[in-house]
Amino acid sequence: MAKYVLVPDTTLSREYNNFPLLDFLPCAPSATVPGIIFEFLKGKPPAAIDARASAAPYALRKLESSLLAHHGPEDVVVAHEDFIEAFIKEDTEIIGVYTMDPLGLGPLTMSYSVLFDDYSKPWVRVEFEQLMKRLNKARKGTKAKLIVGGPGVWELTMMPEMMEELGIDLAYQGEADDVVNAFFDDVISGAVYDGHYFHGFQSFDTDFHKVWFTNDRFVTRKSSSKQFPVLEEIPLIRNPAIKGLVEIMRGCGIGCDFCEVTLRPSRYYSPEMVKREVGVNAAFGYTNAWLHTDEIFAYKHGPHFVPNGDAIKEVFRAAVSVKGIKHSNPTHGRISVPAAYPELTRDVTEIVNGGPDHWVGVQVGLETGSERLALIHMPNKTLPLKIGADGAWQEIVLNGLRNMNHTYWRPAFTVQVAQAGETPEDNWETVALVNRMSDMEVDGRPAEFTVIPMQNVPLGLIKSSGFSSKMLDESQLAVYYACYRHLMKMTRRVAMRDSKGNLVKRTMMSSVLGIGSFALLHVVEALCKKRGVDIEKVKRHGLRSYEAVPVIAR
Ligand code: SF4
Repeated sequence: MAKYVLVPDTTLSREYNNFPLLDFLPCAPSATVPGIIFEFLKGKPPAAIDARASAAPYALRKLESSLLAHHGPEDVVVAHEDFIEAFIKEDTEIIGVYTMDPLGLGPLTMSYSVLFDDYSKPWVRVEFEQLMKRLNKARKGTKAKLIVGGPGVWELTMMPEMMEELGIDLAYQGEADDVVNAFFDDVISGAVYDGHYFHGFQSFDTDFHKVWFTNDRFVTRKSSSKQFPVLEEIPLIRNPAIKGLVEIMRGCGIGCDFCEVTLRPSRYYSPEMVKREVGVNAAFGYTNAWLHTDEIFAYKHGPHFVPNGDAIKEVFRAAVSVKGIKHSNPTHGRISVPAAYPELTRDVTEIVNGGPDHWVGVQVGLETGSERLALIHMPNKTLPLKIGADGAWQEIVLNGLRNMNHTYWRPAFTVQVAQAGETPEDNWETVALVNRMSDMEVDGRPAEFTVIPMQNVPLGLIKSSGFSSKMLDESQLAVYYACYRHLMKMTRRVAMRDSKGNLVKRTMMSSVLGIGSFALLHVVEALCKKRGVDIEKVKRHGLRSYEAVPVIAR
């Protein structure tokens, strides 16, 4: 029925009622969040059109476009999750699956597994395993090969035995826009084993140097060949991407020592390219354009990562100039730029029609409240500001939050627990920072932000599944408590306001979210008490010594 059948990981095909942070819901353990609640909160998939997905994850749309450059639409199908089987027939050569967290080993998913001592599988893994079962059943008796790609492939490299168990023929690691046609041809002809590729995968040693492991189930580019597509080899999407998301750049270059993105070359889409892709999503009915980048303020940046305000504003202007688009926001950005360039966030807010009724959401990796750890792991993340010379790390963060809120930007922060070289004092600094942010008022309103802890689990423990809440010391539990305490505060304040739909649906959403955040905090509090963590100290930590933060001057 179709030569190439492309299928998204089902957790990536939902809009989660468009409620901030709910996209993280599938990271929760399946025994902790009941199926009925999970189904209600994740919502329905976008409708099918002739059994094809009307909207699909952006990366899958890119793959589709690469294939469509060489094949007709009858050969390339992005299947709607309800009709996958309809396309897998005798003539199907390849089933390609895109995934981000197939085994539930991502840092947020691990944080829940550790915290809840819950060895039930997280929803991401439950759904991925169900999908693999379905696909294997559907391809039985056909020649179709099952290939998995996407950023989640690293998890399969951690547990290569799962490839056999899940019935996956091959996993492809890395960007594929420029090679996917040749790669699929080679898989079909069998030439994939003729030395064109490295059979195995890349990983990193403790010093974050690349190391290569051989394994016949994995394929990646050879170290001697071109490693990434250049901009001209990246096709534009032809069909709508879920959530109205489009990419505006790849790579970053800031050099945080835990981040793989920084190792990729920077490639910037022109505003015209962005406009064309946003147009595809707008024609589908999306009114908000999500501009994806791992670091918005690095878009066409100047020396020392001075933000290129003109280029950033131009790309947002391009997005909202598309007919039907009312708003736009970036996916990720660093905190130091709003701290030092408040006029930039203000101008972007104006361009994207932001304001008190429409906040600009962005995910910001704070990683730590500790100046020591920030200097070790991410000394350049504050560029063009320098930690010390331009203010303490926490001053930069607090200034950034204040300026963001002042210009109606709402950051969704993440912090890391169990970073390399971390001490309890570092974690208490993170607790202090979270408390200070939570206690802050901006323009007479409580500060608007969320903060979520992410767990680093050593690779050896991941492999042995020997992780539990016992591996968290008191200071790490304190970080969890401070973060989830703030999250509950925020949920109470905004759940009704930010829920979408009619009054009944909004009431149901806000009730479920309110109860969920209360239950989450309750679990963490019980764990803290059991382990002798002084909850009152956690609540107060950092506040008594806290004074008004000096404004950073450029
Ligand atoms: S700023 Fe963000 S994307 Fe860039 S290297 Fe650091 S963590 Fe990675």
